[in-house]
Amino acid sequence: MSDSNSSDELTTAKGILSHSFVLFGALGDLSLRKLMPALYQLDHAQLLSKELNIMAVARSAISITELKQRIEHTLNQYIGADELNANSLSRFLQRLSYCKVDLTHAQDYIALEQKLALWHPQITYYLATPPSLYKDICQHLHGANAINEHCRIVVEKPIGHDLSSSKVINDKMALYFDESQIFRIDHYLGKETVQNLIALRFANPLFESQWNHQHIDYVEISVAEEVGIEGRWGYFDKAGQMRDMVQNHLLQLLCMVAMDPPSQLTANSIRDEKVKVLRSLQPIDQDKIGTHLVLGQYTDGQFKQQPAPGYLNEADANTSSDTETFIALRTEIANWRWTGTPFYLRTGKRMANKVTEIIIHYKSNSHYIFDPDQAEIAQNKLIIRLQPYESISLQVLTKEQGIDKNMQLRRDPLHLDFAQTQSQARIPDAYERLLLEALKGNQSLFVRRDEVELAWQWCDQIRQAWHRAELPLEDYSAGSNGPQQASNMIETHGHRWYEHCNEAK
Ligand code: NDP
Repeated sequence: MSDSNSSDELTTAKGILSHSFVLFGALGDLSLRKLMPALYQLDHAQLLSKELNIMAVARSAISITELKQRIEHTLNQYIGADELNANSLSRFLQRLSYCKVDLTHAQDYIALEQKLALWHPQITYYLATPPSLYKDICQHLHGANAINEHCRIVVEKPIGHDLSSSKVINDKMALYFDESQIFRIDHYLGKETVQNLIALRFANPLFESQWNHQHIDYVEISVAEEVGIEGRWGYFDKAGQMRDMVQNHLLQLLCMVAMDPPSQLTANSIRDEKVKVLRSLQPIDQDKIGTHLVLGQYTDGQFKQQPAPGYLNEADANTSSDTETFIALRTEIANWRWTGTPFYLRTGKRMANKVTEIIIHYKSNSHYIFDPDQAEIAQNKLIIRLQPYESISLQVLTKEQGIDKNMQLRRDPLHLDFAQTQSQARIPDAYERLLLEALKGNQSLFVRRDEVELAWQWCDQIRQAWHRAELPLEDYSAGSNGPQQASNMIETHGHRWYEHCNEAK
């Protein structure tokens, strides 16, 4: 591709807002539901480069007018007609161009390259396509001379379905892009509350001084989804919760909770610390598989007072599938900070409520002087909630008000609800932050190759152990909190899921 537009500022792939953005899979679900609305919001907030051009790439034969109508319709649908600003919308639509490309056909990339050659050469390519196309896209962009040292590439999960397939994808990308040009998305890292974990932990000595095995009893990370399979049975059945959720989102959250302070707030300092956590994660081997892991699959049940089908009764289901729609596990991190503090991870589909939260369960006082019947509640908890709304809450113990109450304890929250405390009209979607950081070339919120591969290695080992042990798949009703065995598992280790912490033993 022509480099004739290069200017002095284009000395590195980092630190400068891209002026050219190419979206592959531009008419797919992710692009229409998340990426286009996020780009519009960035434009509305005047955070995009004035010169930014956006090339939508898809294989439908549509005109630019039809594309713009489609995008306007999408923005109305996902942002809301009342929220759209006419000037911002018009500016945003003017940025759009369209190129019809079958991504498996090398010759189609020539037309794309010819259009891009007229644009600023610092291009960000966003691959919102099935990962099976990543190899073709990289190879054909290279073949069309559409990659230069200033380009960036953003890829969605999943990077493979195990360690060896992820290496194939990463190797292929590495042929054409340097690691500093590759941005692997885990959209959980773009959430405001996950970013706030860094501020909470490392800007508040109060928390950091207590953030270790001496003070923390156990850590719980739960991601419960209300939705079932939503027409994606075939895709999900090949993956299951371990590969679809634990390998990426839950392990990334665990890393953010457990990592040591980075020496600086740079992408590589943060990612170096996350890698150390992944290297210290204890395997769940054959000896532990029966006591540290529970797999489940939802059966027919009730969801919000309506009958809800079980996984095997969903549309397009293969009725003999043994794919897990729920997983709960216990692991430990073998290092100075965390030795002996269990981390419990849990995620399921078709659960009672949509909740994503990290609960830090602090240890009780070593010498307890209050009512012995209240000893059970005498633990602080820090609740970091990502969904359904973003908040941080510290459960503290206080005295019941009233002269007749003696020294009865009660738990009260010190609560930060970000929508209220920061008086923002709305909390930006994770994709807005991630797109902006990718356009700026800041890799802090993106996953490095070694992180992806260590996460796969750990998950692969657990999957092999459960297959060897022929671990049973436990039933749970659609609309419930998962199988009873998950509660039994954590209670065997002397702990409880947060939602059970108020129940009498
Ligand atoms: P979709 O299937 O909805 O969209 C994929 C897009 O790729 C479609 O527009 C499709 O075009 C296009 N495509 C497929 N094959 C070709 C081809 N040969 N040439 C040109 N275009 C092609 O998938 P999603 O949007 O749901 O997902 C995209 C990526 O994002 C996947 O990697 C997914 O795992 C990941 N992801 C998605 C999330 C989501 O919420 N949707 C969340 C997290 C990750 P056409 O319309 O013509 O078929």
